[in-house]
Amino acid sequence: MTDYPHLLAPLDLGHVVLPNRVLMGSMHTGLEETGDWNRVAEFYAARARGGVGLMVTGGMAPNREGGVFPGAAGLYSAADIANHRLVTSRVHAAGGRIAMQILHAGRYAMGKDCVSASAVKSPISPFVPHELDEAGIEKQIADIVTAAARAREAGYDGVEVMGSEGYFLNQFLVAHVNRRTDRWGGSYENRMRLPVEVVARVRQAVGRDFILIYRISMLDLVPDGSTWDEVVALARAVETAGASILNTGIGWHEARVPTIATSVPQAGFAWVTQKMMGQVGIPVIASNRINRPEVAEQVLASGAADMVSMARPFLADPDFIAKTAAGQAARIAPCIACNQACLDHIYSGKVASCLVNPRACHETELRIEPASVPRRLAVVGAGPAGLSAALTLDRRGHRVTLFEAAPQIGGQLLLAREVPGKEEFRGLVAWYEAMVAASRIDLRLNHKATVADLRGHDDVIIATGVRPRDPGIAVQDGAHVVSYVDVLSHKVQVGPQVAILGAGGIGFDVAEFLVETGESPTLHPAAWRCEWGVADPALRRGGLAEPRPAAPARQVTLLQRKPEKPGRRLGKTTGWIHRASLQAKAVRMIGGVNYEEITRDGLRISFGPERRDPQLIPADTVVLCTGQVSERALAEELRAWETAVHIIGGADLATELDAKRAIDQATRLAAAL
Ligand code: NAP
Ligand code: SF4
Repeated sequence: MTDYPHLLAPLDLGHVVLPNRVLMGSMHTGLEETGDWNRVAEFYAARARGGVGLMVTGGMAPNREGGVFPGAAGLYSAADIANHRLVTSRVHAAGGRIAMQILHAGRYAMGKDCVSASAVKSPISPFVPHELDEAGIEKQIADIVTAAARAREAGYDGVEVMGSEGYFLNQFLVAHVNRRTDRWGGSYENRMRLPVEVVARVRQAVGRDFILIYRISMLDLVPDGSTWDEVVALARAVETAGASILNTGIGWHEARVPTIATSVPQAGFAWVTQKMMGQVGIPVIASNRINRPEVAEQVLASGAADMVSMARPFLADPDFIAKTAAGQAARIAPCIACNQACLDHIYSGKVASCLVNPRACHETELRIEPASVPRRLAVVGAGPAGLSAALTLDRRGHRVTLFEAAPQIGGQLLLAREVPGKEEFRGLVAWYEAMVAASRIDLRLNHKATVADLRGHDDVIIATGVRPRDPGIAVQDGAHVVSYVDVLSHKVQVGPQVAILGAGGIGFDVAEFLVETGESPTLHPAAWRCEWGVADPALRRGGLAEPRPAAPARQVTLLQRKPEKPGRRLGKTTGWIHRASLQAKAVRMIGGVNYEEITRDGLRISFGPERRDPQLIPADTVVLCTGQVSERALAEELRAWETAVHIIGGADLATELDAKRAIDQATRLAAAL
């Protein structure tokens, strides 16, 4: 008997039976663009071996003008088929099924040749699209249909037609982008003609025994988006036209509401998909922030969907389904929805990976093989770097002793998990605990390792982390100055007026912690929807309402010395969310300051080299978030030692340290020892 009967139930699509209710959703990984299709094939094959029911590839452009960026992967010509066949054959050999997503970006294509319904520029693109004429529309349809036919020839089990997130087909649906007056514009019937025509012609080209998923924008989250009646009308029309599965898309890329970030409640949009249940006869898939088997099971058991889509969780753990089926859910590496190594990489032109699993998309290069000669190794520090090193070494067959001075493992993760909207870090710590418990690692908690402890080991890995930097600012007697560690570990009282020094990731985290009154909105979906202005699309077009954030718990000022916009260096895809959250809580953000003195009344600052405009920022508490320095005392003691000593994580380099770098460095070292 399993705890996940709905999740593990097969789904009969007529010509094929999927073994479970999980779709690995489409993700752009950047692998295809490397040209190394063996690497692409291994990425998908690893997930097929892990037992997912059906996978969807990253978006493949049907033609040059529809590519998300110049050179984006696609099925542009028959010559591309051989590469794709490498992927499908490897997936099939591993017992999996894979559909290819056809993604036409329309006005989101980053190039001057981009096309759309009308010449209306998107707020997130510098390019004004060319308005297509009748022949141009026919060409786009024909190219999409040809890509679908080629996908079949390449051995795919189906295609997903991308109709959501504000891409090409979605652009025709809404009147603020589609201003046409011909048969492709005007009435909703005319505006939905393009997606319906595409589905009908694709079905005609690929035959009945081929999966055809249509990804519909259930909730546009943009002004003048679709009404719910329009969404249902489109869903029924694409079903009639030949779609075999309806997948959910939430929010256009230009939407100013977070849809997949870690602060979005788990399964926070399944209620929208639930509204579609019963409106169509084909299976409906829920998506967004479903990252644990119990969350997926709950979505399915509550009747909110027939299947669930998870994408990033399969970067974090390719064996998600196999572990679920084997009753080992606690051992599934959790996707914490941070975007740091996946989407942020893609938006920086790098191949995707995963913060918790550096092997994601690097399967062929970063191999964890059994050690030829098992050795005795000591790891000092059980933060993300030390834990990753210890677990990888253990997996390879080495004997590992892991020393941790604190009473529990986790290091800086224990602080991160206290921040409202970062509750996923609790799951990450729990996963490390489960993995250490299931390993042969000799864990010594409450044990500050000494040189004597380390004798007798073949190699020593120092992962002692960081300590907060003292910025050396003059402090008046009686002023209340605390560090972020004291605040996030609930060790100090913080008054109603706060100045936070340092506007890096931690400064922002502390500000979010201090403005929140009660429990995090991430754990209260109704409160979260209120904060961001998400409404029932049956009541408000596109599901967009006026945001109504709760009043801040404190008056907070966030400062930095750099003369730039605070928060500019936060994550590429998540920085705007943190900035918007704090703005909604009336946090004052000031850059370009000199810290003159911390007094009992607050913080005295001035501006520029000439120290102009001196002023007092009233504050009863000043919180220092001014970066870190490496904790290397033990490493220094071992300097003259004969044993090999490796320093990793924050102990190695504190500057702009983050868990992604720490875990990646630790895993790579442990794979090589
Ligand atoms: P950080 O991002 O390096 O920021 C440190 C802050 O301290 C900066 O605002 C810096 O700005 C200031 N500072 C540095 N030296 C100072 C000095 N001597 N006196 C006064 N101010 C000084 O580091 P962090 O905020 O401590 O975060 C640590 C790491 O964790 C970062 O890599 C961060 O990306 C990561 N993190 C990430 C997230 C996330 O959401 N992805 C969240 C938390 C932490 P000025 O020099 O301009 O004053
Ligand atoms: Fe999830 Fe973060 Fe990994 Fe991306 S990098 S898959 S968001 S844990």
